[in-house]
Amino acid sequence: MARLALFDLDNTLLDRERAFERWASIFIELHGLPEGSWSIIELMDEDGLRPRSEFFEGLREALSIDIGVEDLLADYHDQYPRCFSVDRETVDAVRRLRDNGWKVGVVTNGPPSQMSKLEATDLLGEFDGICVSSIVGSRKPERGIFEEAARACGVALEGWMVGDSPSADVAGGRAAGLATIWMSRGREWDHSQLPPPDFAVATIAEAVNVILGAPVSSYSR
Ligand SMILES: [Mg+2]
Repeated sequence: MARLALFDLDNTLLDRERAFERWASIFIELHGLPEGSWSIIELMDEDGLRPRSEFFEGLREALSIDIGVEDLLADYHDQYPRCFSVDRETVDAVRRLRDNGWKVGVVTNGPPSQMSKLEATDLLGEFDGICVSSIVGSRKPERGIFEEAARACGVALEGWMVGDSPSADVAGGRAAGLATIWMSRGREWDHSQLPPPDFAVATIAEAVNVILGAPVSSYSR
């Protein structure tokens, strides 16, 4: 019986919102931007979904920044990963899984620099397998990236997926045959869009409690 728990990275293991706010405050100070710049930066970010070259094009225009996009991007890729931190409770919870014989993996959509976030937060050694979409050539909700994560962890694709995205993490995980835990981040599940997750939680520690407390039959399909 495989004991596999896979985790999304941004806004699941790591608080992406907090890191982005931290980066933005450095950016505002560095470029001497006026008060109120944060709301423009936040708007243009689109919760991290807007391609970064477009994001900086937009900022240059809206905030009259006289520095080329390429240079802004280079600074961003250098500084932003270092704005991430991880909660002690999150690390302890992941370790609790491993101590109980579980394999744990990271499954994240994004550029290769996702690895820098794991490095900056000392998380690389905490997982058995790490899959970044741009590196493995498949992205959530596709089944391929989940298969690759199980392979990297050395076990069958059977167990749990934990993440904050209803489509990528919950629907994707379910389609790959996994039980699902949704990091709700204070949101209500929109039942009109997708079938609900097996569980909804606020923290990784809660997710791990669910996983360790659930009977095997609930995730073995
Ligand atoms: Mg996420």
